[in-house]
Amino acid sequence: MPTLAPPPSIPIRNPATGELVREVPTATPEDVALAARRARAAQVAWAARTWRERARVLGRFHDLVLERAPELLDTIQSETGKARRDALAEVITVAGTARYYLAHGRRHLARHRARGGVPILTSARTVYHPHGVVGLITPWNFPFILSVADALPALLAGNAVLVKPSEVTPLSAMLGRDLLVEAGLDPDLFQLLVGAGADLGRPFVDAVDYVGFTGSTVTGRIVAVQAAERLIPFSLELGGKNPMLVMPGARIADAVQGLVTGAFANSGQTCICIERCYVHESIWDEFTRQAVEATERLRVGWSSDFDVDMGSLTSVEHADRVVEHLDDARAQGATFLTGGSRLADLGPAFVAPTIVTDTTSSMLLHDAETFGPVVRLERVSSPQEAVERANASEYGLNGSVWAGQGRRARELAEQLVVGTAGVNSTLLIYNSYDVPMGGVRESGLGRRHGAAGIRRYVREQSIVGSFSRGGGYEQLLGMMTDERRVRQLLGVVKLWRRIPGIR
Ligand code: ADP
Repeated sequence: MPTLAPPPSIPIRNPATGELVREVPTATPEDVALAARRARAAQVAWAARTWRERARVLGRFHDLVLERAPELLDTIQSETGKARRDALAEVITVAGTARYYLAHGRRHLARHRARGGVPILTSARTVYHPHGVVGLITPWNFPFILSVADALPALLAGNAVLVKPSEVTPLSAMLGRDLLVEAGLDPDLFQLLVGAGADLGRPFVDAVDYVGFTGSTVTGRIVAVQAAERLIPFSLELGGKNPMLVMPGARIADAVQGLVTGAFANSGQTCICIERCYVHESIWDEFTRQAVEATERLRVGWSSDFDVDMGSLTSVEHADRVVEHLDDARAQGATFLTGGSRLADLGPAFVAPTIVTDTTSSMLLHDAETFGPVVRLERVSSPQEAVERANASEYGLNGSVWAGQGRRARELAEQLVVGTAGVNSTLLIYNSYDVPMGGVRESGLGRRHGAAGIRRYVREQSIVGSFSRGGGYEQLLGMMTDERRVRQLLGVVKLWRRIPGIR
């Protein structure tokens, strides 16, 4: 069957206004292969440079990101329609990721000694090598963070990076690339391939040595199968239906603030955002009253200043999907405590921040990820019931517990089947760079941040050494010619487990 040629360029629109921002040329599958060849050639020299030399380039990039923040904010906003504060979160997070890996990445990749097979006679150590060409396939909700921050540890580890940004929002990544090049990076080490996933996905996975995918569970599965066919390593950060628990002991005003931020930051288009909130019956009335008040105080609209709390959704098509969830819930008898519909007066892709209750499992928004400014509230009669309902999900990305300051809240957090959980916080995990972040169940595989977030970009190699043939094992086994010697050997092996220091 003849395949349709991809369009030569894609129009990028500001979803808040519908205005055309720019036309961006698209790549072909041949461009992907060519980019990978160039990246591969440049990577050899980059990997041969010292950590310090690579860090110098990325340190300059860190400073440039902060110095050029206004331009970055304009660009991020222009293609996402998000509030300026949400764009600022992207800039701060990219700088934070750079700061963290510049300060700690080298330690995570340091060769380290381990125990040898036989004490004294043998040695063992682990070393790390870059994969070569790392490929990132990224979505539209945080176009700067997800295309650029995830590339930084890969670059520091000595890889080249190819990014296939979302075709809806390539501009932030393009500016990020300009800044990397301005900081001194060889342009072949960070290349962007703009185009639809259906056109470029397969050639992209075929061209790289590692795939980091962030996006929907449906697409993540396709990418995982393709990576598995090639037996290349991959990580997936997918969807979530993240629960929040508000239990006795919580400071209600704080929890309300946590809910409003956790559910409505970035217009609810955050993989770790709160979509379900379980509230103890003893504080239900007060919590819901304050939550509705706080939500109705949010200033929603489009502004290139900091006077808006929540902006547009990032595309009209996505707003349609969110509204479909709302209409379906309404038709099935849900109660909207606030919001519940599109705000067409503000622009083509605005949806009101929404709190909904009296939901049932037959409603779309009950279990499926809505990925919009919508949170559903449920009343529960015990923390245990809240944990059980929270865990009754196919997803397992992030969770949030509000139950005071003590150990009890942490214990509840540990009972949630999620990759990350916050106590008295909802989105804090994303800026906690020293701990791994990622999901379980259908929320994904692999981790960003922390040691895991840079080690995913290297192959681990173990080197063992011996001062005599086979570290003594080979000679020893050669000496086992009768039962008596075998018994003596087994006696020594038995003793070994009991000797501290060498076991
Ligand atoms: P969304 O539904 O939010 O757009 P996706 O998971 O489809 O989320 O998109 C995330 C990224 O995956 C985007 O860059 C998109 O172009 C890309 N993508 C979509 N389909 C495929 C595919 N079949 N193979 C590889 N990447 C894809």
